[in-house]
Amino acid sequence: MIEAAGALIILTLVGQLVFHGSAPGQFRLYHFLTIPPLLWVAYRFRRRGASLAIVVLSTIAIAGTVRGLGPFVLRDPNEALLLLQAFIGTVSITILVLAAVVAEQIRTEQFLRVQYGISRVMAEAASLPEAAPKILRAICEAVGWEIGALWRVDAAAQVLRCVESWHLPSSNLPEFEQATRSRTFTKSVGLPGRTWACAQPVWVRDVTHDDNFPRAPVALREGLHAAFAFPILLNTEVLGVIEFFSCEIREPDQNFLEMISVVGSQIGQFMERKEAESALRAAKEQLRGYADELEQHVAQRTARLNDTVESLQNFSYSVAHDLRAPLRAMAGFATILQEQYASQLDAEAQDYTRRIIDAAGRMDRLIMDLLAYGQMAHMDLAPDVVALDASAAAAMEQLADDVRAKNAAVHIEALPKVKGHPVVLEQVLANLIGNAIKFVPPGVTPRVEVTAHLTGVKICVRVRDNGIGIAPAAQERIFDIFERGPATSKYPGTGIGLAIVRKGIERLGGRVGVESEPDRGSCFWFELPAP
Ligand code: ADP
Repeated sequence: MIEAAGALIILTLVGQLVFHGSAPGQFRLYHFLTIPPLLWVAYRFRRRGASLAIVVLSTIAIAGTVRGLGPFVLRDPNEALLLLQAFIGTVSITILVLAAVVAEQIRTEQFLRVQYGISRVMAEAASLPEAAPKILRAICEAVGWEIGALWRVDAAAQVLRCVESWHLPSSNLPEFEQATRSRTFTKSVGLPGRTWACAQPVWVRDVTHDDNFPRAPVALREGLHAAFAFPILLNTEVLGVIEFFSCEIREPDQNFLEMISVVGSQIGQFMERKEAESALRAAKEQLRGYADELEQHVAQRTARLNDTVESLQNFSYSVAHDLRAPLRAMAGFATILQEQYASQLDAEAQDYTRRIIDAAGRMDRLIMDLLAYGQMAHMDLAPDVVALDASAAAAMEQLADDVRAKNAAVHIEALPKVKGHPVVLEQVLANLIGNAIKFVPPGVTPRVEVTAHLTGVKICVRVRDNGIGIAPAAQERIFDIFERGPATSKYPGTGIGLAIVRKGIERLGGRVGVESEPDRGSCFWFELPAP
């Protein structure tokens, strides 16, 4: 205000000096002294200030020239006025163009400041409520408007609700702020409602004279006049509205509105991103909740299963024990019958007692094999470094009777150490070597070879025999429990031995297999990690 008055006084003084001070008829260059104050006005007060200054200067210049003073006085007054007109016209155009350029530059600077402020806020804020006051502040400070408010569309209720308002610290607008924060707007009502309805920026020169501005009485009391609002857009959907108010009456600035509406789209994208992020967070939380619940269920189920397995194990041990006792009694009494009452038994009775003894033996083996399988499936197998030599020697001790009975030649190479479990490996080797001795054609002396070699990080152990071999179709199946090969009914067995082998090796993280051809022997192998 003071600057404006100062500029006007200086301009008047210069005008007086130039256009009322010179001798008639003389043309001097004093009139160019009017250019600096005009430039000042154009730069500081833009188009309106420049126009006013030109009017003032023209009046002084015409008055002086008509009175025969100033640099444009000629003998012919018409010619003098024409000359003055040419001078004033040229200066006016120059000054107005300059004012327009300055206004444009200031607007661009304001817009860049707004953009920079908003981008920073959006990069740092975690949510819209956190960003809202900072967005309002950035715009208020950059464009010099007193108060701003951010409204959000409540799609369910079809109203706009105030998220946040902010005013310059120097402005005291408690009533207007309260009126803004406490109310909602439906579509087309008030400045926010209108902006929502048309999805375009809206400028109101003076809200106190606006028909569609319910807060007008409060605005009047607190001295607010000009207002503008722009929609927060996501594509064509209006997510919210931002409005600003000034204590001055301001003429609509279409260029500014166009620029500021770009900010509305930026904020729209920010809101969408934050909503997607919070939806993602909620989904993650929910998922974590489900996972925790599931884990709890699994833990409970596992505990119940462990209990069941344990009680089943106990049950099977006691059943095995209880079953084996009468079996042993049956076999024992049948043996006594055979040995001590042989003379009193005819051939048929002797055959029956022999069958009782065989059946009891088979039953006993079956029970023992099932127990061994159950143990292999459930025992704790913490892997350890095991010397295969020792496992093979222990297995051979188990098989000593069979080896002797069949006169078998079992050759065991020097074996390395593996990562495994001593009980499992003894059982595996006993089953494989035992089968190799067992499954030979009648009259053939079993020859078994046990070798081992390193393949990469694994050790592969092979048990090769000269037995009856296995048909390709049966080679996979024989590792299943109770599965026996097609040509093996005349060999004793339960069909559990290879199932124990596979279960044990797989539980140690290894693999098993067989290479064989009928009548050409078999080579069973298993692979375990090297220590
Ligand atoms: P079992 O020896 O009690 O019959 P296994 O599970 O040990 O049960 O073996 C399953 C089947 O695999 C055997 O019945 C037999 O047909 C076949 N088999 C196992 N080892 C050999 C072998 N070395 N030579 C030929 N066949 C074998």
